[in-house]
Amino acid sequence: MRPFEYSTPANAVTAVKTVAERPTAAFLGGGTNLVDHLKLGITHPDLLVDVTGVTSADITDSQMGLLIGAAARNSDIAADYRVRTRYPMLAEALLSGASGQLRNMATAAGNALQRTRCAYFQDPTTPCNKRRPGSGCAAIGGFTRGHAILGASDHCVATHPSDMAVALTALDATVHVLNPQGERTIPFADLHRLPGDDPTRDTVLEQGDLITLIELPYSPVAQRSGYYKVRDRASFAFALVSVAAALTVTDGIISDARLAFGGVAHKPWRAHHAEQVLIGEPATNATYHLAAEQELTHARALDGLDGGNAFKIPLLIRTVVSILRRLAEESQ
Ligand code: SF4
Repeated sequence: MRPFEYSTPANAVTAVKTVAERPTAAFLGGGTNLVDHLKLGITHPDLLVDVTGVTSADITDSQMGLLIGAAARNSDIAADYRVRTRYPMLAEALLSGASGQLRNMATAAGNALQRTRCAYFQDPTTPCNKRRPGSGCAAIGGFTRGHAILGASDHCVATHPSDMAVALTALDATVHVLNPQGERTIPFADLHRLPGDDPTRDTVLEQGDLITLIELPYSPVAQRSGYYKVRDRASFAFALVSVAAALTVTDGIISDARLAFGGVAHKPWRAHHAEQVLIGEPATNATYHLAAEQELTHARALDGLDGGNAFKIPLLIRTVVSILRRLAEESQ
């Protein structure tokens, strides 16, 4: 372990100024991802600025919907009555992630900003363009079972690991960001990036940008929603594929829908094409299947030493059909 400084700033303004002015500094939330990275030797900040005391941990009603403080713990968000009743997909997504102990530590902002669990990224002895630009991508031609089928590039085929982020993408959430220039908001769906030719950057945030709040808009369709996650173990594992979905069915016809996928791309994947296929059509398995297929028109499976990840395409289609059927049945 390399030595580093640790600071507890007096307020958020001081925190962002400190990190913005020092490229080798990093914000620290619950530490459930960053501390692992320090131990693995894949990141080397020389100053950790603890922001758990200077960002809100509250969950509060707003005129637009619900505000979740950046420091709110994952377990508190999942247990909140308003989240469970107004946005059940978010509660289900959170409860499908990690373990109870980790959810008690992990913060909302930290969850959103966690980094890929690509095994090569976490192994400093292997080439990885995300960890060491220009070194190559050991996953391409390697073990690809957990890697991307959508939006990947020749430089990186990693997937984003957060379940919570998939639900927030489907819910049209917004993040509030503070930096030394002031505050701005970013649609959650635009927070994370595809890898392109620069996989070092997971998000559009710059050094010194601090997420302070996550805002959930009022959403009638979200009240009938859920999250399905398929993984190699029943718990404490990352998604092979996951689906956050919301559905409104009126007289057998789909009148509104939200869909986002996890475990398949470098960012949570909002399935706009599938939503367009669903709306106005009968709530049947054939409609759900067609919608998922349409979204996956440009999916590209990877070969790999472990047999690759072509299985993700039919698995994701079946997962979409399964959760939409459940939500439609609950609508009757
Ligand atoms: Fe690194 Fe991305 Fe390749 Fe994984 S997939 S080894 S994170 S460049």
